[in-house]
Amino acid sequence: MSNFLYIFSKLRYNLFMRCLLCQNWSLPIICHRCRETLLVPELNRRVLDDGLSVYSFYRYQEIAPLLKTKHTYLGYRIYTLLARQAFALFTKRFQFDVTVGIVPVDGIPKGDYAHTAILAKALETKYLRACYRALPARYDVTYSAKSREYRKNHPRGFIFQGKCTEKVILVDDIVTTGTTLMEAARAVEAGGAKALFALTLANASDL
Ligand SMILES: [Zn+2]
Repeated sequence: MSNFLYIFSKLRYNLFMRCLLCQNWSLPIICHRCRETLLVPELNRRVLDDGLSVYSFYRYQEIAPLLKTKHTYLGYRIYTLLARQAFALFTKRFQFDVTVGIVPVDGIPKGDYAHTAILAKALETKYLRACYRALPARYDVTYSAKSREYRKNHPRGFIFQGKCTEKVILVDDIVTTGTTLMEAARAVEAGGAKALFALTLANASDL
């Protein structure tokens, strides 16, 4: 196939795309208008039991259907879009003058991409450097719909392998009880670095 025909076929495919939320024609997976009206991020700070601050940008309920695309073919595009939309607010407000590592909080990898790696990538600036696979988990634990007690008694066994930077920011998609982020922060400190705070797309404290 010639280049022209190839590009034309892709273009036509894209022209028939509709916005996931309003169903209007849109090249991006969510149209500009929906992003500006339905996905306006709002910076929220929550302090966990051990004093770790978590900044989030949406209430979980607001974007739950989008976050649930995580393990579908749409997940990669949705997470990229949400991360850009949310973290633009963060990179505008927070300025750094030393290099700070962005550490994605990974579980045991499922599927072909790590959604937290997408979030870390979206945060990269001159002073924010993504440190991929710096915090692998030893145990495959699912916390979904599990009690705080269960979460406490079944740690993920993170090991911080970051030869990244002395100061890091943890990043995850959702904070619920905060058990995972607190464990991740302890692992970072045990590895000789400092976890400044955590960033998540959504806060699910009211679940
Ligand atoms: Zn739309």
